[in-house]
Amino acid sequence: MARYNGPACRLCRRVGEKLFLKGERCYTPRCAVDRRHSPPGEQAANAGTQRRRRISEHGTQLREKQKARYVYGTLERQFSNYMDAASSFTGVTGDRLMQLLERRLDNVVYRLAFSESRNQSRQLVNHGHFQVNGRKVNIPSFMVKPGDVISWREQSRSNEYYKTMKESWPKRTVPGWLQMNAENVTGTVAALPAPAEIDTKVDTRLIVEFYSRR
Ligand code: SF4
Repeated sequence: MARYNGPACRLCRRVGEKLFLKGERCYTPRCAVDRRHSPPGEQAANAGTQRRRRISEHGTQLREKQKARYVYGTLERQFSNYMDAASSFTGVTGDRLMQLLERRLDNVVYRLAFSESRNQSRQLVNHGHFQVNGRKVNIPSFMVKPGDVISWREQSRSNEYYKTMKESWPKRTVPGWLQMNAENVTGTVAALPAPAEIDTKVDTRLIVEFYSRR
């Protein structure tokens, strides 16, 4: 299935929750979920008279899986592969799944506050602005590991985006499993993320249940 290229806010409205896909805009009154509570397409049909229909158990599990997929911007197949990998590891499958998602390079770029959103991270990585351990990596799904150093490529440090970002870096709190080097504007993966360090609001139990039906 192709990557979704439509409006990000539509995905939030589809699951009926704020997924914070657009950076700072998500914290302003312009947020589409705060302004309109119906899922896309339902507003006209309901004409303000009906509430959202009841969701089955399967529908709830599916929605949770979709939420995680939208947040991390993965394709259906990729997400399923992460789930397979998580199931093969020892430990709690849901925690392992989140760890894998967090280790994606586009997510790490976002967590290091080099970008406003994961969508923006994905673009920055795709455009070749980053290197890992001194080597250019332009694959958003690249898996980082402890010890890896993520830095901007030298030629990217002269662009306007980098200069503006650097002035207020880091704009957000960087999680404890990543270390910042303010002097070089780089980040190091200090450890694998612990479950308590991952603040993504998804119920992994429901996701594991969804895939247990396969
Ligand atoms: Fe979702 Fe952010 Fe759009 Fe609000 S502004 S609907 S949180 S992407």
